[in-house]
Amino acid sequence: MKELNKNTKVGIVGSGTMGMGIAQVAATFGHNVFLYDISKDALENAKQKLINLFNRLVQKNKLAGEEAESILNKINFVNDLTRLNECGFIIEAVTENLEVKQKLFTSLEKIVQTETVLATNTSSLSITSIASCKVYNRIIGTHFFNPPPLMPLVEVVPGLLTSEEITRAVKNLMNSWKKIPVIAKDTPGFIVNRVARPFYGEALRILEEGIADVATIDRAMKEIGKFKLGPFELMDLIGNDVNYKVTETVFEQFYFDPRYKPSVFQKRMVEANLLGRKTGKGFYDYSGNAMVPEPNKDENLAIELFFRILSMLINEAADAVFMNIATVEEIDLAMTKGVNYPKGLLQWADEIGIEKVVKRLNLLYENYGEDRYR
Ligand code: NAD
Repeated sequence: MKELNKNTKVGIVGSGTMGMGIAQVAATFGHNVFLYDISKDALENAKQKLINLFNRLVQKNKLAGEEAESILNKINFVNDLTRLNECGFIIEAVTENLEVKQKLFTSLEKIVQTETVLATNTSSLSITSIASCKVYNRIIGTHFFNPPPLMPLVEVVPGLLTSEEITRAVKNLMNSWKKIPVIAKDTPGFIVNRVARPFYGEALRILEEGIADVATIDRAMKEIGKFKLGPFELMDLIGNDVNYKVTETVFEQFYFDPRYKPSVFQKRMVEANLLGRKTGKGFYDYSGNAMVPEPNKDENLAIELFFRILSMLINEAADAVFMNIATVEEIDLAMTKGVNYPKGLLQWADEIGIEKVVKRLNLLYENYGEDRYR
């Protein structure tokens, strides 16, 4: 195969949050980019947003005017998929739906050259399942994090039949985009969306049991754990619908392993349209004059809450190592560079002493008798 380098034309399909951001990254690193969306409005919206963004960067002296212009000029906004025929590397960032993605790759197969590498930005679908629409060995996962220009991690996920050559070439390309690529196995949630599940799931469990309220749990994770956002603030930011769906998908794909069991309470929140910031109300109320809930500042309770959630996170990270999803170093790198964890979970475990974590988990297991705490 041809090497993927600056001269490679990059196609991006889907000009939403992720596609637009990935287009910006590719153009910044010198590629000619062809950004396509099925919706003319979405494409126009992406164009406007990118123009505004580059204007702001120039105003703030973060970029020279000519440089901004030259990057923007590299992005071709196209409303005909066949315009991607000369691209050597194409990333799709369309709706998270297996059928939609497979249909798209089937169309792309008819348009692109034999050497073109096809990538998907899926966050929860299997690469091998997507590739079963007969793009078997040239497809790969490149899972960027939101927002792509700012988050350094990219999970590079070869499907079962992806060639090593493609995996290597894509990893090198991501390095040339100053990203931190980590190779992950094609398993549910890859690294980050799997290892992070207990951050939400255990917080929800504690809430459902009535052990502590939203503000108290969030405070514990921020004050004791130094996480930038508490679990409920983060779920409100991501959107409860999106966050619930990822948990549900991981749970189903792991054949209903109770460790990933979604929260009934969160499902009710979704049904009630309490999605978080985007609907003005989730775990918190974002309407201007709402009261900010007061957390319980009992330090022993805060340590107890923090250590319970952290132990579950460490257990998940350890299980990912055990199942050979990635190495200890890669898993720690993924969590710090993809979702801004204050420290790698396995490094954290070493610092605390793994026996203390195991003891905490065993206590939970004895207390509840649930496989979730194994
Ligand atoms: P989005 O809804 O913002 O954008 C999706 C875009 O795809 C829309 O503009 C839509 O018009 C377009 N589209 C839909 N079907 C299409 C088709 N057949 N051909 C061309 N365009 C089509 O979605 P997003 O948040 O950017 O997510 C895109 C992908 O990235 C999903 O697979 C998602 O799981 C993944 N992802 C999202 C995030 C995130 O935080 N938003 C993070 C990592 C990965």
